Amino acid sequence: MTEPKKLKYYNKVFNTKFNLHFKAPHQDICKTCDSLNFKIRGTDDENVKKEFEVQKELHQRKADSARENLQIDAKKINDAYVLTFDLQKALAFPKLTTSVAYYKRNLYLYNLGIHCFNNNTGYMNVWNEIEGGRGSQDIAVCLVKHLKTHAVTQNHVIMYSDSCTGQNRNIKTTLSLLKLIQDPDTSITTIDHKFLVSGHSYLPNDGEFGIIESASRRHGQIYSPDQWI
Ligand SMILES: [Zn+2]
Repeated sequence: MTEPKKLKYYNKVFNTKFNLHFKAPHQDICKTCDSLNFKIRGTDDENVKKEFEVQKELHQRKADSARENLQIDAKKINDAYVLTFDLQKALAFPKLTTSVAYYKRNLYLYNLGIHCFNNNTGYMNVWNEIEGGRGSQDIAVCLVKHLKTHAVTQNHVIMYSDSCTGQNRNIKTTLSLLKLIQDPDTSITTIDHKFLVSGHSYLPNDGEFGIIESASRRHGQIYSPDQWI
């Protein structure tokens, strides 16, 4: 049996024999923060700079306050049905890795993820682009179906999403939820739909989408086109 090597030895091999690099995880950059950062850097006028810094501070406080509210509401599961929802980026089907396949593939899958805090479960509502789009009506259909399936005995629903107007923050979604409240088959009397500041909406759904994306990367490796031939 060979003797275990010293830590220093592993360090040397790791640092010199592998082509490995580390970098900070990718983060979505908020449009408002980005724009204010440019304005702060781009002016020499101290008063103007200060004004932009105040705007940035207010924007970030607003984002923090919305996130803190989500954390508070997530604990109200004994009195309410609490969820967050988000649309995952469109998934190509089938998932192929060659550039020729990229230009030929023409079917996309959409997935509205709904994370329920009451049972700490992520629900995936999946459809393809032939069955529907990804506008406000498609999102509202998924939400109503989910609530009718899982929350009919609840009185109070609290839901969080980002404030994207095309999908989440619009009259069609609101009217669909209003109609659900009037449905005699549900006990729901109140639905609070709260919005996080765009670009700062770190939802539990993001972690669940990450699981799907890393599984699809593994799947892509196993079934790479070379192996099919
Ligand atoms: Zn921001």
